[in-house]
Amino acid sequence: MLAIANLPLDELIDLIALAHRVRLAYCGNEVELESLINAKSGACPEDCAFCSQSVKFDTGVEVYAFLDLDEVLDAARATKDAGATQFCIVVAVRGPSERLLAKVIEAVNAVHAETGLEVACSLGLLTPEHAARLAAAGVRRYNHNLEAPRAVFPQICTTHSWEDRVATAQIAIDAGMELCCGGIIGMGETLEQRVDFAFELAALNPAEVPINLLDPRPGTPMGDLEPISAREALQAIALFRLVLPSAWLRLAGGRERILGELQGMGLLAGANALIVGNYLTTGGRSADEDIALLDALGMPVADGPGEGRFVIDATGTYKLPAKQARSSIPVTTA
Ligand code: SF4
Repeated sequence: MLAIANLPLDELIDLIALAHRVRLAYCGNEVELESLINAKSGACPEDCAFCSQSVKFDTGVEVYAFLDLDEVLDAARATKDAGATQFCIVVAVRGPSERLLAKVIEAVNAVHAETGLEVACSLGLLTPEHAARLAAAGVRRYNHNLEAPRAVFPQICTTHSWEDRVATAQIAIDAGMELCCGGIIGMGETLEQRVDFAFELAALNPAEVPINLLDPRPGTPMGDLEPISAREALQAIALFRLVLPSAWLRLAGGRERILGELQGMGLLAGANALIVGNYLTTGGRSADEDIALLDALGMPVADGPGEGRFVIDATGTYKLPAKQARSSIPVTTA
């Protein structure tokens, strides 16, 4: 995999073609769309060095408590109108307080009742009791990114550990939620560490892996980092697809800035999911532009999070759902 991460430019197109074939074989050509709402912004006590929502950095980010239910519902309706099937409620906290968790669960119930969207949550570190309550409320997927390779994480954050993040990922799975777990590419990790990161994520068997491309935020310790090139980003996306063949690989924050006009190439390099609309603290392009891009690529929008995906059986073989069955593919391990 390190050799793949190091491929010279004239072989990049071969790598992209390979990643695309793997994506088609394991996942089909559908693309899952999700939008998110930053339901509680800023004043987070943690010190993640990339994050403009940390109270430790002077970033000028908007600070507000959990939004009114009406505002959350408006965002969910807009998500549905845009053609997305998943709505993720995100809050900037170390972990949810009892009061916050009750508000989130109220919002989850309201979004389900009003829109029928699948709801995901990203609420920081969880206890098993928190996770059980979210699962009981019908939260399908829990987002908790590892953010960075294990070897790099201590330089990114000192207020909690990489192991704390892994523990919450496992708690979410144990509660019966699907795990959404990815990170940010371009925070100074070496190519070797980037390869390690893909395998560290794969070890958690996430249903979804968001790939953020660092868009350095002014006022954070990473504000002056040089963003990675589009070419390097494409190489990383392809690498993650090869290591995580059946995951929803979601292009998230930074894709507009880093990939620019090559966003379609990201979907040909193995990505099969997008965040549409805005990100947590930065704006994205319009959902219409993304849907036009998918039309141009001949990639249909997935009906829902479970549609068109391989399932893994007890023998470790990925199988297509019956309606699309063409073949089954044995899992190869690294
Ligand atoms: S990444 Fe999350 S936990 Fe870290 S500072 Fe930002 S909001 Fe807080």
